[in-house]
Amino acid sequence: MEPDVIIGLEVHVQLNKLKTKMFCSCPLDYHEDEPNTHVCPVCLGLPGAMPVINKEAVKAAIKVALALHAEIQPFTVFDRKNYFYPDLPKGFQISQYDRPLALGGYVTIETEEGEKKITLKRIHMEEDPGKLTYKGSITTAKYSLIDYNRSGVPLLEIVTEPVMHSPKEARLFLNKLRIILEYLDVFDGSLEGAMRVDANVSIKGGGRVEIKNISSFKGVERALSYEIARQKNLIRMGRKVERETRHFDEVNNITVSLRTKEEEHDYRYFPEPDLVPIYTAELVEEVKGTLPEMPEEKRERLKAQYGIGDNFAKVLVLDKVMADYFEEVASMVDPKLAASWVVDVLRGELNYRSKDFRFAYERLKPNEFAKLLKYLKEEKITEKGVVEVIRTKLDHGGDIDDIIKKKGLFAIPKDEIERLCREAIEKNPKAVADYKSGKKKALDFLVGYVMKATRGRANPAETAQMIKAMLENL
Ligand code: ZN
Ligand code: MN
Repeated sequence: MEPDVIIGLEVHVQLNKLKTKMFCSCPLDYHEDEPNTHVCPVCLGLPGAMPVINKEAVKAAIKVALALHAEIQPFTVFDRKNYFYPDLPKGFQISQYDRPLALGGYVTIETEEGEKKITLKRIHMEEDPGKLTYKGSITTAKYSLIDYNRSGVPLLEIVTEPVMHSPKEARLFLNKLRIILEYLDVFDGSLEGAMRVDANVSIKGGGRVEIKNISSFKGVERALSYEIARQKNLIRMGRKVERETRHFDEVNNITVSLRTKEEEHDYRYFPEPDLVPIYTAELVEEVKGTLPEMPEEKRERLKAQYGIGDNFAKVLVLDKVMADYFEEVASMVDPKLAASWVVDVLRGELNYRSKDFRFAYERLKPNEFAKLLKYLKEEKITEKGVVEVIRTKLDHGGDIDDIIKKKGLFAIPKDEIERLCREAIEKNPKAVADYKSGKKKALDFLVGYVMKATRGRANPAETAQMIKAMLENL
């Protein structure tokens, strides 16, 4: 953390789990479709088209504001934000200005120095512009293509106070925000363009630079790191950091100057004459009853209900789907066993494959995982065997019992191992004599006998222990 580095974020979040756009009834599920197929006169901004507020979008926005502990304003107004850019066919964006939906609020993050509240300035609703695709890079492209499927998607702009002091804090904030939004079931972060970030960064005393439209979390961290280094270099050389807007070039990991920062008055905000103000009281009451359990509450409940440690509970709530998966498994087997295998092993195997628990639900269902852990508990399979089955299931699918049989993963019963240990001793008198005369290496030979007989399925350390005990009693 560097106190001289000051970072504030403006996060644009698509409420992309809704059915329709912010001011028209065009469907939101456009990601697989051809460009410009989810459009109508309203979201194309044709003259005379009249917007109608999507009440579900307002409710979703209120849900987010409540979960972020923000103060929802008693009434809220849409404004026209005027600017000229091809992604905005009307020449203005319907947004909110001096009567935003909510003020204040915070998100708690866990830093190395402990918990920290990232305070929010405001949360407002707006419509997403269309999507421009540049032929080449933004600064050199000869032309760009435009897709209006995205035009009019309900958007929330969440603005933080300038209270972050490192790129890492910014990343922690965004991660936590994403988790909260997914818990609320208003947001799917896996969809392209679901969350886009403008980052304001300055170094105490210098001009504030805004980096526009960063589309990934990693991008935010890298853009900020680059920008902080750039500003520090300027200051070191005795030069001034200009107030400006820059673009993050994700390919080259640098920021490039776009234009000097526009001032608020450049946008000539005025109230949208085609929309009425929204009085929020009733909607807030309606939404309050639908707020789900949030990560912090869930963490405490998981600990209390399943007796698992905070280390596991903390990780489980990072992803609601993972927490759900765990709870299903924990209802069928020892919850502590379930927690450690879900968090430590299955999560790792999924990560390794760049997959998440949605994939686990497809390939290794909770009841199958529970069955596997039961086998482990009954010592029918070794830990190594469990891992092998997990990997096979994730990579190829199949039936658990078939996999265990085919791969010979059923553990050998303890009395069978004991019998083989005795056999090893009886059939190898020379090794036994060597061991007795102090040649400790002879033990390895006897263990090797059992390993060979079991085709490697015995645990070598335990087997050695067993043989040693038998030899001592001879
Ligand atoms: Zn439309
Ligand atoms: Mn905005």
